[in-house]
Amino acid sequence: MTTETLPSSAQSAALFARARAVTPGGVNSPVRAFKSVGGSPRFIREAHGAYLTDVDGNRLVDYIGSWGPMILGHDHPAVRQAISEALAGGTSFGAPGEREVRLAEAVTRITGAERVRFVNSGTEATMSALRLARGFTGRKFIVKFRGNYHGHADGLLVEAGSGLLTNAEGTLGTSAPSSAGVPGEYAQLTLVSEYNDPAALDALMAERGHEVAAVIFEPVVGNAGVLIPTPEFLAALHRVRERGALLIADEVMTGFRLSLRGATGLLGLTPDLICWGKIIGGGLPVGAYGGRADVMDFVSPQGPVYQAGTLSGNPLAMAAGLATLEVLEGTPEVYTRLESYTSELAAGLKAAAREAGVPLSVNHIGSMLTAFHQEAPDGSIRTYADAARSDTAAFAAWFQSMLGQGIYWAPSQFESIFVSAAHTDTELNATLGAARTAYRSLGGT
Ligand code: PMP
Repeated sequence: MTTETLPSSAQSAALFARARAVTPGGVNSPVRAFKSVGGSPRFIREAHGAYLTDVDGNRLVDYIGSWGPMILGHDHPAVRQAISEALAGGTSFGAPGEREVRLAEAVTRITGAERVRFVNSGTEATMSALRLARGFTGRKFIVKFRGNYHGHADGLLVEAGSGLLTNAEGTLGTSAPSSAGVPGEYAQLTLVSEYNDPAALDALMAERGHEVAAVIFEPVVGNAGVLIPTPEFLAALHRVRERGALLIADEVMTGFRLSLRGATGLLGLTPDLICWGKIIGGGLPVGAYGGRADVMDFVSPQGPVYQAGTLSGNPLAMAAGLATLEVLEGTPEVYTRLESYTSELAAGLKAAAREAGVPLSVNHIGSMLTAFHQEAPDGSIRTYADAARSDTAAFAAWFQSMLGQGIYWAPSQFESIFVSAAHTDTELNATLGAARTAYRSLGGT
C-alpha cells in the first residue's frame, strides 16, 4: 500500500499533539493511544449505526463499538429517545428514582440474579463484588486468571490483560503487579492461575481454597484476545464452591452480548455473583454487580460491606441501559444475526489470509472475534501464553492497512472486536475486500 491511498488524518494528528500536552499520553484510556500499532489515534467527531466519523471527515466501519456497549450500533433511535426524555427531567438527583428500579427489575428478570446494585463502571463492579465476597466469607485471598482483565482496581492489576498486554513493558508473567503503584503486599492477596487449565485450578484450590474468598473469571475472555473456555475448565470453576469460595463471573464484556443472558446463559454457568458494565449502560457510564440475595444483602445499607456512589443509578444512564435491554429483549433474532455476521467475517478473513499465505488463527463466539496472526488450528488458542505467540508486527501492519481503507479494527492483537446489530452485508463486504488487500500486502503476493 502506498501512502497516497491513505486518507488524511491531519486533524487527528493535530488534536493528538494538543492532547499530549495536557493529558498523559494524549488519551483518557491507554489502549486508545495506538501504542502497539503506531501512528496517531483517530479523534472521533461522531458515530451513527456501524460507522465512526473522525475529525478529518473519514467515515470508518467501526468494530470497537466503544469496546462493547454499542451492541445496537451508535445513536440507536430508541436509545437516543430514552436519553432525551430523561434529560428533560434533570441529569442527577442523588436520591432514588423509578428508572433504577425498572432497570434492576429487567436485569434480575433476564439474568436470574436475585439482587443488583448499580455503579458507574466495570472497574467499580468487580472491585465492589470482591469486597463483598471478602466481607461475606471473612477470607482474604482472591483467585484470578492470567491475561484476564477485570478493570483497574489495585488487587486486580496482577497478571492482567487488555491494555496491560498491549502497553506494558515486560511485567507480565512475573507474578508481580501489572502496574506501578500496586504494592507487592497487596498483590500477594491475588492468587493467579492459568485460564483453561482445570488441573492447575484444582491444585491451587486444594492447597489454598480454605483462604479464598472468591474466584473471578471472564466466562469468555476478550482481554487477551478472544479465548473460549473448555467444558472441563468451567466444571473446575464450579468446583471452587466446594471450598467455600464464591464464584464471580465478570460479564462486563460478555453480558447481554453473547446472548440475552450473557455468557452465563450461553454456557449454562451458575455463578454466585455477576459483574456487568458496557451494554447495561447503553453507551453511558454504568456498571453493576448482582447475584445471590443472601450475599448481596451484605451490601450497605442492608449489610456491613460499604459501597456507594454520587452518580450511581444516574437517570440518563439508566434510561440508555433500559432502552438497550428493551430492544434486545424485544428482538431476540438480533443475536442470530450477530452470530452469522461474525461467522462469515471469520470465514472470510481465514480465506483471505490463506490466499495471501498469511498465517492466521481465528477465535470467535457470538459477536466477539480475534484473528491471531499465527499458525495454529482455529480454536486451538486457549490461554494467554497461546495468544502471546502471535506476530504483533504483522498485526500492526494489517491494522494500519485496514484503517487506511476505512475499517476501524481494535488497535491491539490482544483485544476482541465487537460486531453490532447495525453491521450489514455492505459492511461485511467492505471489510473483507479491505482485508484481502491488507493480507496481500502483508504476504507480499
Ligand atoms: N471487566 C472486563 C471483563 C472488562 O472487559 C472491562 C473493560 N474492558 C472491565 C472489567 C472494566 O470496565 P471499565 O472499563 O468500565 O472500568
